Amino acid sequence: MFRKEINKKSVFKNKDLISTHYVPDILPFREPQIQDIITNLAPVLQGIRPNNLFLYGKTGTGKTSTMNKVLEKMIEIKTESSLKEKIITTYINCRTYNSKYKVLLKISDNLFPKSYFGYSSSFIYDSIVKELQNKNVFVIVVLDEIDLIKDANDAIYSLVRINDEIKNGAITIIGISNNVLFKDSLDARTKSGLCKKELVFPPYNAQELKEILSQRVKIAFQENSVTEGAIAIASAFAAQESGDARTALLLLENAGEISDKKETYLITEKEIKEAKNQVEEELIVDMISTLPDQIKIVLYAIANMVKNNRFSTHLLDDGYVIYSGDAYIEYVKQIRQLSKTPVTMKWFKEYLQELTTYGLLTTTTSGKGVRGSTTLIKMAIDTNTVLKVLEQNL
Ligand code: ADP
Ligand code: MG
Repeated sequence: MFRKEINKKSVFKNKDLISTHYVPDILPFREPQIQDIITNLAPVLQGIRPNNLFLYGKTGTGKTSTMNKVLEKMIEIKTESSLKEKIITTYINCRTYNSKYKVLLKISDNLFPKSYFGYSSSFIYDSIVKELQNKNVFVIVVLDEIDLIKDANDAIYSLVRINDEIKNGAITIIGISNNVLFKDSLDARTKSGLCKKELVFPPYNAQELKEILSQRVKIAFQENSVTEGAIAIASAFAAQESGDARTALLLLENAGEISDKKETYLITEKEIKEAKNQVEEELIVDMISTLPDQIKIVLYAIANMVKNNRFSTHLLDDGYVIYSGDAYIEYVKQIRQLSKTPVTMKWFKEYLQELTTYGLLTTTTSGKGVRGSTTLIKMAIDTNTVLKVLEQNL
């Protein structure tokens, strides 16, 4: 059975190379961004502190890959420098390191041989400051998905402030965010500290995605197992949705699995279309599972109302709407069941706004009434999928 499994026919030559974790040697259409980041970081090789930098753009526009590529190049060139002992680069994925404490600990783990786990946040902070100062060390800290740090404002401000406390050594922060609105949610002083320089990653258009996919198809799939039409339609779908290379790659990967299962060993437009639903669901699952708990519960309350037909029929279109006041009552009920404290209506509305930004809800504001303005809410995606994901998550 094992032998049969390994010798199984497949469209994939090397499946890892189509995976979204793989970073190809060359990143087409990202040369300007790579160059800009390098220009910004290069002074460190001469002992000059690089500016903080903020990279942003939608998911799948190549931010993480670009940054990894730059860090790779940096580590290579560093070995030739007399300052190599003095330059430390740290990549932190804030999906995992999602608090100020965890970020500080991760930085200190890279600076010191022993872990400061269990020590207070301020102790770790002071140790980092002292180490940079005494040993004249330059740390470059990449905070990927920086918006997922729960106490982002506080965390970033602390890090940015370190440079004011020391004369030798320095810290440079490179923040990366998929959330285009994130920087505007920061306090003015934090924002001006982090966003000294900004770099936008624009969405890819269909033509660009086609080239990116073609490059991957060559290395990841068997020859002649993907039709031109399949590449074109996958690129078009992804360009239409969001200009996201990740979605485009996921479409191909899923389509490959579908054609292996069907034992046709050929990816055509048909397989891409079949893959589309599956991929959309995966993306939704991904997006929902990274939301903070409070926001998940807001979404859960609303999805639950829709499922149980507890909404008002809206006269202007034939669909339904939920009034924010009713949704708030349901949210409070749900959150009490989880023995958590509800947020105020003001925050609740902020959360609705955020869920709208993520494309999970559609909202409009009604005119001002007696009790202030009401937000009218609808689900923007399939309610059952949302409930399924949230029930596993909460
Ligand atoms: P982001 O961090 O902006 O969400 P990623 O860097 O994670 O995006 O990219 C998502 C996927 O798309 C990865 O598999 C990456 O290798 C691929 N990708 C993104 N941009 C390019 C590009 N210009 N060329 C080739 N592959 C790319
Ligand atoms: Mg990323």
